[in-house]
Amino acid sequence: MIDEATLGRAPSLMVELAARSDVGRQREQQEDAYDAPAQPLTPADYERGVLLIVADGVGGLAGGDIASRLATETTRDVFTRDWSPDTRYALEQAVARANTAVYLRGQEAETGGIGTTIVCCVLRGDQLDVAAVGDSRLYRLRDGALAQLTVDHSWVQAQVTLGALTEEEARNHPKRHILMRSLGARPTVEIDLRRFALADGDRLLLCTDGLYDLVDEAALAQAMTRPPDEACALLVRLANEAGGSDNITVLLAVVGLTGWAAGADEATAAHAVVPAGAPAGAPAGGHAGDLAEEPTAERPVVGRSAGNYE
Ligand code: MG
Repeated sequence: MIDEATLGRAPSLMVELAARSDVGRQREQQEDAYDAPAQPLTPADYERGVLLIVADGVGGLAGGDIASRLATETTRDVFTRDWSPDTRYALEQAVARANTAVYLRGQEAETGGIGTTIVCCVLRGDQLDVAAVGDSRLYRLRDGALAQLTVDHSWVQAQVTLGALTEEEARNHPKRHILMRSLGARPTVEIDLRRFALADGDRLLLCTDGLYDLVDEAALAQAMTRPPDEACALLVRLANEAGGSDNITVLLAVVGLTGWAAGADEATAAHAVVPAGAPAGAPAGGHAGDLAEEPTAERPVVGRSAGNYE
């Protein structure tokens, strides 16, 4: 609950979360991992930024489960310990440190390198910072329209970008699991960082390929409209009913931006864009430049190199 002391700078953001991770029907080991703050979220969670993480240990490498767990734990720990009000920077530093941790652990392992994907985001005030490496995804459902906010660092996505494959061909391509970039493959990694404006009612889904390989986007969007717990259970069930060929992990966040407490100015609350915990004097709407990055295309194309995994 929000006490007297926080009135007037109360978080405008309210987030409801649910998550589910399932081994699927054909794998024996769970190599996905996820992390989210415990519910109910506290004012401190909102002030710091609500950090959500999903990782998928890279198949074919021994220790994928170790890599995904180490990546989620390191990202959470570093983000919390070295927190900065510049959440984009804090998130980048945390993921970079996770890369180092996984890389070093891989160097120790007798079996050779280990690796993982990671998709993570921080919700703070009315803004969403996203960081991604690999092919785990973040989707946003807004006003019934599903948008993929991350770009896969996969060989097939590179071919789509080049115009060598259509999206339909990529979806069923035998090489669709080959990653161009992953966490822990090299001492340093290029991280995709993007910032979006949140809107009241946004539904954000972080997931591994065990979900989106098997469940089409129309079904994803439909399921995401359900209450969070029910939605997560349904998504896992749909993937399993379609074969459950891989581990399945889903993390759903429902965004409320109407939670201004009494004490907030009614007139400004309607257009409130001051992030929770913003330093005194931070200009309302001062993120317009960054938020202009908001894509208009369904699948935004961001600048990215051929990666570091060739
Ligand atoms: Mg997978």
